[in-house]
Amino acid sequence: MQDILAQISDEARALFGQGKVASYIPALAKVNPRQFGIAVAFTDGQTCSVGDANVPFSLQSISKLFTFVLALKAIGDDVWKRVGREPSGAAFNSMVQLETEHGIPRNPFINAGALVITDILTSHYAHLDYALLGALRKLADAPMLNWNTEVAKSERGTSHRNMAMAYFMKSCGNFHNAPELVLDNYCRQCAVEMNCVQLAQATMFLAHSGRNLGQSGQANAQFLNADDARRVNALLLTCGAYDAAGDYAYRIGLPVKTGVGGGIVAVAPGIGTIAVWAPELDAKGNSVLGGFALERLVELTRWTPHAT
Ligand code: GLN
Repeated sequence: MQDILAQISDEARALFGQGKVASYIPALAKVNPRQFGIAVAFTDGQTCSVGDANVPFSLQSISKLFTFVLALKAIGDDVWKRVGREPSGAAFNSMVQLETEHGIPRNPFINAGALVITDILTSHYAHLDYALLGALRKLADAPMLNWNTEVAKSERGTSHRNMAMAYFMKSCGNFHNAPELVLDNYCRQCAVEMNCVQLAQATMFLAHSGRNLGQSGQANAQFLNADDARRVNALLLTCGAYDAAGDYAYRIGLPVKTGVGGGIVAVAPGIGTIAVWAPELDAKGNSVLGGFALERLVELTRWTPHAT
């Protein structure tokens, strides 16, 4: 695996310059675009990584995976009263479907859906920041993990579009807290930083029938039940890459979650997880080198979304 990752890294780095770092969140525009890291974590506890796999990056939409899982754990199937589970076929921050669909977002991974999920968690937890950070620190086995206050502030100051969607959903009765409060929480969750090794570790439960690994004394702790882990993977496969979900399913075929920080996490059930990071994005907001690297990895390993 180490050789495969080294080969993929060489091939991927030849693509530097083909994308652009996200600039609509001013703090993200400052990130050096010429970085690439990839890490694979196996269900037996082994890990492999190359390149900038230890450099922390902004989770952005990858945080939506974790908040969705926390909401599922908190209120179970009631989440489906507030959000759908169909791909949107529209940009991650699109609002066109919201009005015709009465303020019920298509899925929890587009911005509108993630805002509803954060609204659910804001109602459920007295201190959501700490509940979320606590869960992430445990999953990633990284006690110092935190959000980047500059990135959170930068997004909060420019989140007019997300705020508009929150207010619209409130007018439809699908938003229970003050939009300002939920946006504060949402911007902090998006600004959480992890590196590839930590991200692969943090999502291990999805490859391992809901079981976490790695936390000292917590190995094999059941973080999510196995049925829900399977369902979350289905949702990641169909909705994890915004309006490129079909293209990603065709090229890569694994459940994924992408973010505008340039990170992508992919799940190979029964085998392990892959986290890749390269900040240059394509027109749909997905990492150019990250998508390429995952495509090469499945070509070279033949990993599929079915447990072996
Ligand atoms: N924080 C970003 C936003 O709300 C997340 C988007 C993304 O990663 N696609 O726009």
